Amino acid sequence: MMQIPVLTYHSNNVDGNEYHNNDHVAFELDLQLISKLGYEIISTHELVSILKEKAGSSKKKYVCLTFDDGSDMDYHDWEHPFHGYQKSFLTMMQDFKNETGQNIHATSFVIADPQTRAELTNTCTAGYPIWNSDWWEEAENSGMLSIENHSWDHVHSTLKNTKTQKNIKGDFSGVDSFLDAKTQIAEASRFINSVIVGKKISLFAYPYGHFNDYLVKQYFPYEQSEIIAAFTCEPQFVTQDTNLWLIPRFVCGSHWKSSNGLRKILQMQS
Ligand SMILES: [Zn+2]
Repeated sequence: MMQIPVLTYHSNNVDGNEYHNNDHVAFELDLQLISKLGYEIISTHELVSILKEKAGSSKKKYVCLTFDDGSDMDYHDWEHPFHGYQKSFLTMMQDFKNETGQNIHATSFVIADPQTRAELTNTCTAGYPIWNSDWWEEAENSGMLSIENHSWDHVHSTLKNTKTQKNIKGDFSGVDSFLDAKTQIAEASRFINSVIVGKKISLFAYPYGHFNDYLVKQYFPYEQSEIIAAFTCEPQFVTQDTNLWLIPRFVCGSHWKSSNGLRKILQMQS
């Protein structure tokens, strides 16, 4: 039976330099574990192809890597004012490739709206401007990172106003009308496409992992055609029966907090 874990990291999670409070420390150690356990890393697009073509091989062990919110540290190394030098996720991926010779790919789900990212600088990252879009195109061209859609403004709880009819905050399941879905999803895709030459966004990650019946059963399958799959934060493996609009993911810091925690998740695979 096909079972593929999709793992999620946040490069802005830097509250120290230990596994449990720094996703960079966790990511680097997790790559070693994944390699040691014999996993092959596939891209989200390969995962979706496997699901669509029902082409899962039961012999190979696959894992898929995703990053949420799209802070600069997905791509750029950064000298953190309190916690020192932080190697970016991409740098770690390049090191991994150089050391193991194995293929590696990840997907960054980014927040589209420039104003929202400017506001998050103050509300989420203590004035550090780490929410830029200048690296999106280079990342895409690196062949190791794909940029995909994490909504217009994340309906983020710290924003003064979100671009929704009822000013929804902190609850993406409230995006349950065509108008709000069009703004939060289709307009976000259009903006990201405008930043990256030749890009055509086709994947979406639900902010906070929140979804609803309207998006899953109506909007995605019938009212739009650009997005081909959407990712939640439900801690389960992807199987042959996974709904393309409800692809589950395990989230670092929420579903596991140590190497051993990740090992335990991976060992649940039958
Ligand atoms: Zn998010």
